[in-house]
Amino acid sequence: MNLKTVEKFLALRGHKKYRLRQIQNLIYKNFISDWNEAAILPKDLKKDLSEKINILSFAVKKLIESKDAKAVKALFELHDKNYIETVLLETSSGNFSICVSTQVGCSVKCPFCATGKLGLKRNLSEEEITDQVLFWNQYIKKEKRKGRVSGVVFMGMGEPFFNYDLTAQSIKKLISPDFFSLASRHISVSTFGYIPGIRKFAKDFPQVNLAISLHAVNNILRNKLVPLNAEFPLEKLSKVLGEYIENTHRKVFIEYVLMKGVNDSKKDAEKLVKWLRKVASAKYFTINIIPYNETVKRFKAPSPDQAKFFESQIQMLGVAATIRKSLGSDIQGACGQLAGKRANKSKKAKKD
Ligand code: SF4
Repeated sequence: MNLKTVEKFLALRGHKKYRLRQIQNLIYKNFISDWNEAAILPKDLKKDLSEKINILSFAVKKLIESKDAKAVKALFELHDKNYIETVLLETSSGNFSICVSTQVGCSVKCPFCATGKLGLKRNLSEEEITDQVLFWNQYIKKEKRKGRVSGVVFMGMGEPFFNYDLTAQSIKKLISPDFFSLASRHISVSTFGYIPGIRKFAKDFPQVNLAISLHAVNNILRNKLVPLNAEFPLEKLSKVLGEYIENTHRKVFIEYVLMKGVNDSKKDAEKLVKWLRKVASAKYFTINIIPYNETVKRFKAPSPDQAKFFESQIQMLGVAATIRKSLGSDIQGACGQLAGKRANKSKKAKKD
């Protein structure tokens, strides 16, 4: 929703100024998804708005629910016919967390990631990013599920720091009491390790969580898994993370996609801990171990036992680690599986 457009629209048609505030509350507090739900607005204004103003900046093309109903993936068509995906996850505590996209495709091109295969098409606007949050709040309301989105992770399609300004604008909107009123600490931004982005982020959003998609701690392997590591190698990443922790005193979340025979051995666990300990004290890290969701054939998932073993090795060495339960892998909605293409034609959107 672009409030500037609504403001102009109201002025052009001679509507009272206070209507803008009412509309803002209807959209961001009541999560209406149809102008006809706006009981406090006069009939003629509702009709006008229905004809001229779309609440969302994209069309919902498909919704797929996981078998356990804990994850839902949505496919959106943007105004220029590009597609993006976003995922809603219901956590064990009954809260809703969502994974949002910041770009169409991604230029980092990690070979194990479905999004990376697309390459970069374009950045998303602030409106397109925050409308993903708006959509899921509308969805929760329409489905009569309890609660609202309380956590947002910028871990969908794209590298958020390559679209820094618009990602920053969207974070401001998420935490603003006039819009989504989310707690900064319930928002996480994940980067492959774009050094200038991390520096800026530390200054702009010291209360928002930083996550690093690390996956390997030697440059030879990481150059293969995260091709832009060649430009921003581990030594530079280590330095900037040390600065980040010194300046913010915040924990850093380490995302580690665990792939069979690639980075899942005891030695890999030991090297990972050693690398982190060189950056800062172990208390500043939590490692999220993400068993690979097989989207690209040449990479395989570790067995559940191997993932458990890897986790226990890290914990034994004194660093907090958890295996991230893969919600939604059956809908290709888990980490690294957001491809934004109209692949699965079997199910149409339940609701638009
Ligand atoms: S894993 Fe993340 S950074 Fe790498 S290609 Fe996929 S979306 Fe981009």
